[in-house]
Amino acid sequence: MFPCERLPPRPGLRYSAPMTKRKRTLRRAEDRAQEKLARDLDKLAAHAPGGSPERAIEIASPSEVEVHARSTPCPICRGELRLEEHAAETLAGVRVRVARVVCTVCRSRRAIYFRLAGTMLN
Ligand SMILES: [Zn+2]
Repeated sequence: MFPCERLPPRPGLRYSAPMTKRKRTLRRAEDRAQEKLARDLDKLAAHAPGGSPERAIEIASPSEVEVHARSTPCPICRGELRLEEHAAETLAGVRVRVARVVCTVCRSRRAIYFRLAGTMLN
């Protein structure tokens, strides 16, 4: 685990309209299932290419970061990701490019890691 890996904010529980007890129980079960699914998909995404610095996606030029971030769907809801920040960082001694993205649909945030091909450590 790297300290830069943060969990996305969890959606808060909402109790807006009054419901019958049965409906409420059902809704809670659905919410739990949804949350579990989101957590599982999130864990899966962390093990996919670009999900962590060790699994950085190799690119030939920094301009590919934005192209890649835009063409990647949200792993949780398949929504479109918006690039909030494109940073050059050194993590565990490795120079990486980090695309910080936020889903335009479910608002989950994540980072996608890239490594420039041909960069050597001096
Ligand atoms: Zn999403």
